[in-house]
Amino acid sequence: MELQERLRMLSDAFGVAGFEDEVRDELRRLVEPLVDSVEIDALGNLICARGDGPTVMLDAHMDEVGFMVRWIEKDGFLRLSSLGGWDERLLMGQRLTLRTREGGDVHGVIGASPPHILSQEERRRPVGLEDLFADIGAASAEEAKEMGVRIGDPATIHYPFRPLQNDCVTGKALDDRAGCLVLVEALQALADVELPYRLVANFAVCEEVGLRGARVAAWTVAPKVALALEGTIGADVPGVPEAKQPVRQGRGPAITVADRSIIVKPRLVRFLEEIAEAEGIPYQYKLPLYGGTDAGAIHVERGGVLAGVIAVPCRYIHSPVSTLRLSDLEYTVRLTCAFLREAHRLL
Ligand SMILES: [Zn+2]
Repeated sequence: MELQERLRMLSDAFGVAGFEDEVRDELRRLVEPLVDSVEIDALGNLICARGDGPTVMLDAHMDEVGFMVRWIEKDGFLRLSSLGGWDERLLMGQRLTLRTREGGDVHGVIGASPPHILSQEERRRPVGLEDLFADIGAASAEEAKEMGVRIGDPATIHYPFRPLQNDCVTGKALDDRAGCLVLVEALQALADVELPYRLVANFAVCEEVGLRGARVAAWTVAPKVALALEGTIGADVPGVPEAKQPVRQGRGPAITVADRSIIVKPRLVRFLEEIAEAEGIPYQYKLPLYGGTDAGAIHVERGGVLAGVIAVPCRYIHSPVSTLRLSDLEYTVRLTCAFLREAHRLL
């Protein structure tokens, strides 16, 4: 299957934080032939291992930002809580897909009061999740329950993946299905290459709600070195000065120097620069100190782990219309492969 189709499959899969089953099934199918062992821990992390020796860990998170049904109103409307950091300005007027406990989908829209009845001032006020509700066509709480909807059900704004122009694509969950795909592609590319260490690929749960899965997996895996693979904050858009653009599209993978969760050891930053330069892979720095990643949780586990992050630049993350350039993703795969070929030097 070609790269774009794999990304489509992964981005379209349902994987709200805490409800990653569908994404995990897809990844397991892709990865199982490429590793010696596959294990799912109690939290739902998919931990895949090959080889022996000291451990190098790659991590990408499976979960995406989403919602949870907080309350069902008497007249059938649903109130939502957010799972992860949404840009709440974008929520009004979107279509919503809910996943019921039985595994079925219920479709709805995120509604708000009609503008016609609002005062000038009310119309200018930003509308947050507190003011919004989901309308699934139920006329009462009982009807909503008959549709299978319960408090605690997860939901997402589902924009199907699609190619744009040039090599740009858009989808609902490129943060971090882009990272998941980079990991799969790297495992595939190195399937027949002998590595002098144990390589563990962890597909983590619940990054968007506090780096929870990676923390637990890092304890289990006990890596010496780790690299988190991400889709990160592309902000090369109108109105944003260059000094405030964490990363930019079309410039290759972004190497993190520091974010809010980790200050990467200069030794590892230099190592990544060196191997990128040796391979002729373009790269950029992710400007400090925006965002946080699984590397933040991993590097403080056990006795401490030499950990870093490389990321595919993605615009509009934490919205349903994230976009990336496939060439950036391909370069990130190449940098990950180069890292794995040389990672023994860090052990
Ligand atoms: Zn992410």
